[in-house]
Amino acid sequence: RTNFEDEGLPHATNKTLADYTKKFESLFTLTPPRMRMIVNGLLEAFEKGLKEPGQVVPMLPAFVFGWPEGNEEGDFLAVDLGGTNLRVCLVTLGNGQFELTQAKYRLTEEQKQGDGQALFDFCAQCMGEFLKAQEEEEYIKVAPDTVLPLGFTFSYPTEQDRIDHGKLIRWTKGFGAANTEGHNVGAMFIKSLEKQNLPVKLVSLINDTTGTLIASRYVNPTTKIGCIFGTGCNAAYMEKIGNIPKLKHLGLPDDDLMAINCEWGAFDSFLHEHLPRTKYDIMVDQASNKPDEQAFEKLISGRYLGEIMRLIICELIDEGVLFLGQSTYKIEIPYAFDTAFLSLMESDPTDELLMVIGIFSHFFAIDTTLEERQFFLALAKLISTRAARLSACGIAGLVKQMDCLDEGCSVGADGTLYNKYPKFSDRIHQGLVDIFGDKGKNIQTIHAEDGSGVGSAIIAAMTKKRKDAGVY
Ligand code: BGC
Ligand code: MG
Repeated sequence: RTNFEDEGLPHATNKTLADYTKKFESLFTLTPPRMRMIVNGLLEAFEKGLKEPGQVVPMLPAFVFGWPEGNEEGDFLAVDLGGTNLRVCLVTLGNGQFELTQAKYRLTEEQKQGDGQALFDFCAQCMGEFLKAQEEEEYIKVAPDTVLPLGFTFSYPTEQDRIDHGKLIRWTKGFGAANTEGHNVGAMFIKSLEKQNLPVKLVSLINDTTGTLIASRYVNPTTKIGCIFGTGCNAAYMEKIGNIPKLKHLGLPDDDLMAINCEWGAFDSFLHEHLPRTKYDIMVDQASNKPDEQAFEKLISGRYLGEIMRLIICELIDEGVLFLGQSTYKIEIPYAFDTAFLSLMESDPTDELLMVIGIFSHFFAIDTTLEERQFFLALAKLISTRAARLSACGIAGLVKQMDCLDEGCSVGADGTLYNKYPKFSDRIHQGLVDIFGDKGKNIQTIHAEDGSGVGSAIIAAMTKKRKDAGVY
């Protein structure tokens, strides 16, 4: 009944944890040739997505035309509906700089799974409270008869035909609010804003990656890609309109630029032809609220890494390899093992792995041996290194799509995994070198400016400028 039997190895009980480490090493390690195959698969998916609507990797035109110029100015509100929190920001732009004040609100599981309009009502309500507090503190004065331009960052795949519309293709990251998929979330949010009677006007609806791309470019002119490695995973870049056949009907100049929200998290969904999924990945997928979807994201993003590790641990508990004689119900609860634990383990500076002792005893009431702790650390490294190397594949795909390897570029990156997980960015860089050889060093990732707040405001400002100038 053990995995070793299929591999012709002796029964599990004869095995040491070091043997298990070897087994998981071979399951989770991505070789450079394998990575290059994945890059090619991604490139094909990008091309399909640019050609026709409705593809697995949808390559969504964001209706953000070209780069910011640095002279964007004014006061803007930004609402950021991400994977974990709701955030409301007031952003003041001017002289190529920005100031930002913000408030965060926790979303409950009921809000994520309840009715979509109620979720947007809550967003509008929080915005109202925030605005009132700002006025009371005199951070801002909204003169009568004027409205504040609002940028809405909605970090889920939406199909857009203009910048203030967006039809939700599908919820990701565990969200499941009803009556929202297939609907124009721009209009839904406006409806909620009207109920609150607020002096604001929705100007732009963007994805967090598009915001990250623009905010990073605002401060660093070598930026060509914006990425999020957080609860979810995705990227945006700037494409020549001539390379987007599905936009031909708009009759826009071929050389003009349009930001593309790739939604690469969906790569290899449904058919599962390209990615090396282990049985643990398949279990995570099948138990999720969206089986078969977001296949790439489920191997990379922070929402899932801890769960992958937990499933391995639970299997070894069942096989009698770990924690014999201890009560293990706490670790048997789905999603009980947060990705933050992997991150903590990898930052443990002690030889005895004291932090790992703490995690298991404090959160799961389990005692561990040093050998077990070393095994867990090795697992954490394997799972997160695979995630980083797959992230490198995504970046490499876009670098090839833009043909900018020789010239090089910066990637503005954000998200908890990127910002907090030890060595995550080093591992991405190593992955790029493994894919491209030494030239991989021409690609740098840099911690991005706040794309969902500042980026959203810059895009709202760019949109206003275009409108005032009477261009599409
Ligand atoms: C969503 C993307 C988003 C990413 C990062 C994914 O689950 O589909 O729209 O950019 O998460 O937040
Ligand atoms: Mg976010």
